[in-house]
Amino acid sequence: MVRAMPAHPSSRPYSALEPFRERFAEGLPVLCYHKLGPLPPDVKMPSLYVSSELFAWQMRQLRDEGFASASLDEWRASAHEGRRIVITFDDGSRTLMRHALPVLAECGFRAIVYLVAGAIGGVNHWDVAAFGEVPDALMSDVDVREWLAAGHEIGAHTVTHCRLTRVPLGQAREEILARLSRELPQAVDRYTPDGRLPG
Ligand SMILES: [Zn+2]
Repeated sequence: MVRAMPAHPSSRPYSALEPFRERFAEGLPVLCYHKLGPLPPDVKMPSLYVSSELFAWQMRQLRDEGFASASLDEWRASAHEGRRIVITFDDGSRTLMRHALPVLAECGFRAIVYLVAGAIGGVNHWDVAAFGEVPDALMSDVDVREWLAAGHEIGAHTVTHCRLTRVPLGQAREEILARLSRELPQAVDRYTPDGRLPG
C-alpha cells in the first residue's frame, strides 16, 4: 500500500502528481487527509491541514489523469481495474462537509472517513490534550448521515483515538471493536456518545 500524505502548502507542498506518478502506477495508492480549509490561528500541526483550493486541485488533477476512486471493498479484494486511488480522511473533521463533499461530487469520487466513535459531534480532544492543539469540530451524527447519503463510506478510528499499543488489552479490544461501524455502515444510527454499539 502506498500511503501518501499530501500536506498543507505551508509545510510540505504537494502541488503536482508528477513526483508520485511512478509510485501511483505501482499499485493502489491510498491518500490520507485529515482536515481541509484555512489554517486556524495558533495551529500546532499545520501538516494536518490541506487548503480547500489545493484539495480541489489535487482531486481535479487525479480525475483529469483518468483516476477513479476505489471503495474499501475493492481495495481489500484488489478487484480494481485501471487507474484507481483510495481517498481517506482520518479523524472525521467537520471541515470535510464544506470542503470535500462538493469537490468529491464534482469529480465523481467516493471517499472514506475514519471516525473516532466516541467523539462524534465533538472535537479532536486527543490533540488538544497532547499538544495544546486548536480544537477542531468533528462530524456529527447528522453530518455522518449526509456523508453516507452522498455515497461515501465510513470506517472506525478507535473509540477515543488512543494509542492501541499503550493501553491494556481489554481497552484495546473495545477500541478495535468499534470497527463494526465500518463493517455495518448502517450502524451509524446506533452510535452513542461513548461509541458503543447497543446489544
Ligand atoms: Zn487520527
